[in-house]
Amino acid sequence: KPQRKAEPQGPQKIPGVNHIIAIASGKGGVGKSTVSSNLACALAAQGRRVGLLDADVYGPSQPRMLGVSGRPASPDGKTILPMRNHGVTMMSIGLMTNEDQAVVWRGPMLMGALQQMMTQVQWGALDVLIVDLPPGTGDVQMTLTQKFHVDGAVVVSTPQDVALLDARKGIDMFKQLRVPILGMVENMSTHICSKCGHEEHVFGHGGVATEAAKLGVPLLAEVPLDLQIRLASDGGAPITVSQPDSAQAQAFHDIAKAL
Ligand code: ADP
Repeated sequence: KPQRKAEPQGPQKIPGVNHIIAIASGKGGVGKSTVSSNLACALAAQGRRVGLLDADVYGPSQPRMLGVSGRPASPDGKTILPMRNHGVTMMSIGLMTNEDQAVVWRGPMLMGALQQMMTQVQWGALDVLIVDLPPGTGDVQMTLTQKFHVDGAVVVSTPQDVALLDARKGIDMFKQLRVPILGMVENMSTHICSKCGHEEHVFGHGGVATEAAKLGVPLLAEVPLDLQIRLASDGGAPITVSQPDSAQAQAFHDIAKAL
């Protein structure tokens, strides 16, 4: 009788991938994907070999943000070739489903899709694989951290109390799962009027810094609410690529330097 191979114990490493960093948020719409793509491009600009896995099953936005489209090829029918743009090797759940199709998935399907993207994609040799997680604390987060060796998590939040409350839950989850929190990012921190230069704190300001200090984790950056950041992402070339020397790109370069 052929012996069944024993399941590997504990979280597994992906061959060739040195570090896995998860980008998380307590709720949607706070800029987790914007931070993920800009961070990936900023790391690539530093000369690091970077992969980005878009695991945001409910709203995969990395194909648009990184200017990638089409179906990934699978020449051998087993492994999947990743896409590549702006120096970043990427794969998205959005490239494996129809763009306009609502993804109504059950837990086991989500877990299967994540595992497939982690292990069947030919990631090649990477210094770091960034995983853009869905918002909240669900099956994808659990599967990722239990099945794979995640080196750390970055938690993105807006300064609003309600977003912070959710962010706290996320941080608590990573603590329970023994994933180190590398730091927090305050997104939509301030808004500087492009006409008059007046600085406004649309969602309040400093809330994430206070929270990070309370939790004893670093505040990695404060990213302004800025039209150029949104336009760049919508256009498929994140601000760290399209305007790498701009003040707006600086916050993302700061995160890349801190990691
Ligand atoms: P999440 O991944 O948390 O759901 P996204 O990164 O998709 O959030 O951001 C939601 C929307 O807000 C997108 O249209 C994005 O371009 C925009 N956005 C995010 N961060 C900023 C920012 N700092 N300035 C301007 N627009 C932003």
